[in-house]
Amino acid sequence: MYHYVRPEPDDLPYFRYLHVEDFKSQLDWLDETYGFVSRGDFENALMTREPVPGAVLTFDDGVHDHYHHVFPELKRRGLWGVFYVPTGIYQTRTLLDVHRIHLLIGRHGGMEALDALQAVVEDHMLVDKDNAAFRSNTYRFQDNDEATNEVKRVLNYYISYEHRCSVLTEVLAALNGHRGNGFDGFYLSLEQMQEMADAGMVIGSHSVSHPVFSKLEVDDQWREIDHSFSFLEEVLAEPVRTFCYPYGGFHNFTDDTQQLLKKRGCRFAFNVEPRDIEAQDLADHPMALPRYDCNMLRFGRASMGRERPVESAPL
Ligand SMILES: [Zn+2]
Repeated sequence: MYHYVRPEPDDLPYFRYLHVEDFKSQLDWLDETYGFVSRGDFENALMTREPVPGAVLTFDDGVHDHYHHVFPELKRRGLWGVFYVPTGIYQTRTLLDVHRIHLLIGRHGGMEALDALQAVVEDHMLVDKDNAAFRSNTYRFQDNDEATNEVKRVLNYYISYEHRCSVLTEVLAALNGHRGNGFDGFYLSLEQMQEMADAGMVIGSHSVSHPVFSKLEVDDQWREIDHSFSFLEEVLAEPVRTFCYPYGGFHNFTDDTQQLLKKRGCRFAFNVEPRDIEAQDLADHPMALPRYDCNMLRFGRASMGRERPVESAPL
């Protein structure tokens, strides 16, 4: 599982991404160590429920990196990948909150972002958290990483979606005034998606608005699934019904979510659970296939800047 893959950005000193050169090193390493599964063999494994050895590459969030830095590299190597796109952005033409959070932290660092957030957020907004615990954390966090995690926990999990967008807008305004919303060029265009699909890439659904599904009522889960598949069916010539859960991990979706995906004809869905896909997963849990975060593999540590090669296998 990959997210941002790019060269060093100019204006985002705290941004976490995988440097494109590390991405290439990781592809070399994967190729030498495991090899890659062809699209045909993967399709076959889904049908026969027999795993095949090798790696399958997935890319989440539909960011422009996937067209500009990943796609050319995959083409050059004769590889394919599955690209999961949150479809709501093509209607709203605004950045998803999850990406505004990345940019907030990327530009200002976790400490500054957390201070600004604590000045804006109010107890009653944090419906999914013991508010008192959060409010008592008025000390400065020890380091950027800790503060970054807290900002993400508050904005992705604790806060009610009713308040998130406006809180984020207020925090961003407090920190950097009213810049543009940054939508242009942040995501894949529809033309780029089609070009990638024509070249053998799979484009799948990453929901409409990238919510934590376990925070949603079943009706809202259905809308997120149904509308995102309908959108891809409308804009792509030959869509493949596949899905990956926003954020990932078993706490982010429910059995209902998996049933709804099946009902909508989804063929396979990816969770984030760091282990190999076994025959039993293909047979019994095709809506929750495990996958590794690239961070866990050699050369894959998404960081602020280039990662030095590590000597031992990091699994
Ligand atoms: Zn995502």
